[in-house]
Amino acid sequence: MTSRSNSRAGLTINDPRVSQRVQGFPESVIREMTRIAALHPGTVNLAQGFPDFDPPQELLEAVKRSVDHGGNQYSITWGDPGLRASIARRAREFNHIDSDPEKNLVVTCGATEAMMASMLSLIDPGDEAVIFEPFYENYGPDARVSGATPRHVRLEWPDWHFDEEALKAAFTPKTKVLVLNTPNNPTGKVFTHSELRLLADLCTDHDVVAVTDEIYEHMVYDGGRHISLATVGSMAERTVTINGLSKTYSATGWRVGWAIAPPTLATAIRRAHDFLTVCAPHAFQLAGVAALALPQSYYDELKRSYQAKRDRLVTALRATGIECRPPGGTYYVMTDFSAFPFDDDWDFAMHLIDTCGIATVPGSSFYSDPKLGRRKVRFVFCKKESTLDETAARLRKLRPLAA
Ligand code: GLN
Repeated sequence: MTSRSNSRAGLTINDPRVSQRVQGFPESVIREMTRIAALHPGTVNLAQGFPDFDPPQELLEAVKRSVDHGGNQYSITWGDPGLRASIARRAREFNHIDSDPEKNLVVTCGATEAMMASMLSLIDPGDEAVIFEPFYENYGPDARVSGATPRHVRLEWPDWHFDEEALKAAFTPKTKVLVLNTPNNPTGKVFTHSELRLLADLCTDHDVVAVTDEIYEHMVYDGGRHISLATVGSMAERTVTINGLSKTYSATGWRVGWAIAPPTLATAIRRAHDFLTVCAPHAFQLAGVAALALPQSYYDELKRSYQAKRDRLVTALRATGIECRPPGGTYYVMTDFSAFPFDDDWDFAMHLIDTCGIATVPGSSFYSDPKLGRRKVRFVFCKKESTLDETAARLRKLRPLAA
């Protein structure tokens, strides 16, 4: 039976030289599951959200050209000017966000750094951050490093609605930022205009800055629409909009992300970013210009193919007896395995690895209170059709166990 390489109980690093800050970090369960999968050759990794296929060929060619033509030294710390111009153009066309590449943009090492640099630039210790849960696990350490106290607002299974009163109650005089991820990892929820309107009103009334992670903006299904919070009411003046190349262009290893922010906030984020990483990989920034120039047909096809992958996985999960709704966006499916006789999410996830050769992410890692996720696991579907077919075949082994 597979065991975890670490456990919540054994989280403390037994060395007094280690800072309390880091002692308080959870181990990234998403990345841990990838490591466990790698220890079991042949395991289908539906844990960490990265594709098992390459970016488009023209982007691979663009990287090679970048390496041959000057992309090997630092860029300007807050981003190559050509890439910033491309980001500003795309943000205007797709998101309807106006930005000046000289004043509003910071290119970072992935959306991950954009989020951390934004939190460092906005939060003083003791400030509070409103965060929906289940959440993408990085937001916890982001809050911890910046000194923010998280205030969680629950998205409720199975349709991931939230209670308006609970949301209002989470905003206090100490609230400094709202962290919003739409389309949302791990739930797949795409926040509606009326939900965003409510968030905008609360941010405005409480003088709160919204930091929005919109990395799945092109993965919205069934005719749904992604709306950037920065375009709601007067939110542009108090929103940091984060995005990147990773998910839209299947290039999670390139580490190119960005933040679009009002000028003073962009200046602050640039400072944090400069001392964290200096710049994102220059050659990949240059290739990003080619990525952002892809025609509309690229995005249409991306959406079509991910919706088909979603349907393939959801059909297989339901046929097995694992409960889920087709997510409205992203490439994740949160599921409930209550029909199966397992103690908790880790037990089920380990059984999936050992018996079916499928790695997932235990649901507890997405909640501040692990109990809330103990009947849940997350699957990804950013995989080739053949990988998803193999998954469906392997899941059949579980069927006899379903109640
Ligand atoms: N966003 C991806 C996920 O949720 C992984 C991100 C990461 O590991 N950096 O699986």
